[in-house]
Amino acid sequence: MNDIALIGLAVMGQNLVLNMARNGLAVTVYNRTRERTEAFLGGPAKGQSITPAWDVPSCVAALSRPRKIILMVKAGTAVDQLLDELLPVLEPGDIVVDGGNSHFEDTVRRTRRLRETGVFFAGMGVSGGEEGALLGPSLMPGGPLPAWEQMRHILEKIAARSADGDPCADYMGADGAGHFVKMVHNGIEYAVMQLIAETWDLLRRGLNLSPGQTADCFAAWNKGAASSYLLEITANILRTKDLSGDGFMVDAILDTAQGKGTGLWTSQSALNLGVPVPAITAAVEARMLSMRREERQRYAPLLPAADVSLDIPAPETLGKALFLATRLAYLQGFSLLMAAERTWNWGLDPARIARVWRAGCIIRAAFLDDLVRTFAPEAPLSFIASAPEDLADAQLALRRVTTLAAAAGIPAPGLGASLAYYDAFRSARLPASLVQAQRDYFGAHGFERPDRPGVFHGPWKG
Ligand code: NAP
Repeated sequence: MNDIALIGLAVMGQNLVLNMARNGLAVTVYNRTRERTEAFLGGPAKGQSITPAWDVPSCVAALSRPRKIILMVKAGTAVDQLLDELLPVLEPGDIVVDGGNSHFEDTVRRTRRLRETGVFFAGMGVSGGEEGALLGPSLMPGGPLPAWEQMRHILEKIAARSADGDPCADYMGADGAGHFVKMVHNGIEYAVMQLIAETWDLLRRGLNLSPGQTADCFAAWNKGAASSYLLEITANILRTKDLSGDGFMVDAILDTAQGKGTGLWTSQSALNLGVPVPAITAAVEARMLSMRREERQRYAPLLPAADVSLDIPAPETLGKALFLATRLAYLQGFSLLMAAERTWNWGLDPARIARVWRAGCIIRAAFLDDLVRTFAPEAPLSFIASAPEDLADAQLALRRVTTLAAAAGIPAPGLGASLAYYDAFRSARLPASLVQAQRDYFGAHGFERPDRPGVFHGPWKG
């Protein structure tokens, strides 16, 4: 009898299976299209403790009880279709883990559906891309606690390990918690990638640095508390030559970026929960604008350019601005996670979430250790305010960089949104008083006063 089954042998599924086999687990694999299973067994899986199944019932029959099955298939109807096939052959106590990027509301629905059958359904976020899946991903399982207790020894074995040896796999909470955490992870990923891209644009177009010099900047910033996986790969990408031409690879790539929807879901969820995540939303919208390439090409020669000259900040200033904006993006993500916890009481714990993001995942960053130590759910901004001298310098850098971007006519929506978010929190008084007055003027919505309780109306129309 095998220990576990994995269904869905595209790149993520194959690599997770190889990871499990390397860690001594006997794995049964099944894929809807037979040829994919055959190619896997004849290729990367050759000689390993991996056995094929050619249909769902025989996949389940090959497993010891309680049966443990990980789905690694395209998010959406594929998961429901597989559940329809699995449920007739599963028994109470068996466990189905959905490791795809499912929407957390689908996971809540599926968890409820399976609860009635006694079969456990656990939505699990998986981060780290194909290399992470193979060598050690960051795993964010949610759902019923007994499912985690049964799966824990397996997930901890295959997960990445942080520098202090902790496995980057932990229970995120009930129902849709695992997929919600993964969704917010992806939202933060969108924001940080956009902030890095804007900074690169400013280095290139604002400071006229050569491609090699821009790579040196990112490599230099990737040190100490500011170091992160995304900075590391950016330096590597910017140094890569185009093998089919003379220049650099990045310049040979079309300037349009799509996504699979998880950034959009993060923004939508944040709006539904009433939590501002402006850097994430700016990143989603920046990808949308990038997709309107034809319009951009058409309007580029027609729209007037900026004509303001400013002292150009040194690359070091851009590095400081990027680091502050990056931390603000994580804080926006954590604020969203805390709002979800207040709404659904899943048991989300910011320290546990930050711990599983310390290795294996795309948004791993050295400062997560500090965040784990100092994050206060009731006062998220205290994390960046905890080093006031550094902050004084960093906020000045972010201010100078966004000013440069505006003056030079280089769009920097993520950096600008991050600065506005920061400034909103340091404004003891915002102009929302005028918005309240306007609402009362045209709609008699009433307004509140700081000096006395109650709802009031203004003497607007004489
Ligand atoms: P994918 O392209 O998202 O999905 C392809 C897999 O889904 C194939 O095995 C395919 O089987 C199967 N599938 C599609 N529709 C199906 C259906 N109706 N019934 C049964 N199987 C069906 O593959 P992936 O990139 O490896 O990702 C797998 C999951 O992990 C996705 O949910 C993805 O969002 C998530 N994820 C991906 C990454 C990444 O970096 N790629 C990272 C984290 C999470 P056939 O061979 O029969 O078509």
